[in-house]
Amino acid sequence: MSRLPRIPRRVYSSAGPIPVERVEDLRDPENPTKQLFGIWLPDTRIIRVDRSMGVETAWQTLFHEQFHAWLDDNELAVSHNMAERLCGLYASGRMGEWWERLRKGR
Ligand SMILES: [Zn+2]
Repeated sequence: MSRLPRIPRRVYSSAGPIPVERVEDLRDPENPTKQLFGIWLPDTRIIRVDRSMGVETAWQTLFHEQFHAWLDDNELAVSHNMAERLCGLYASGRMGEWWERLRKGR
């Protein structure tokens, strides 16, 4: 059982709202043998999240991809590894907030 809301159709960014698409069998466009949980597509400004995941993993993935978008929208040039760490940190923090809030019944 989860009280997490459904994945929204768009999320905030300072450069404008970003559409969120849930898709079947999400793969890396540059390497189609690689399955992905999520992806931020800067050229089209779309976040895709694989449809097969449960709501918790989908939210964590969405937060991760949203932070990639924020780094790009704010022209924060960081290495790939640093971007992945920052996005992972942000997503974990946001999920931690959810669980705190749910635990307290708010
Ligand atoms: Zn990433």
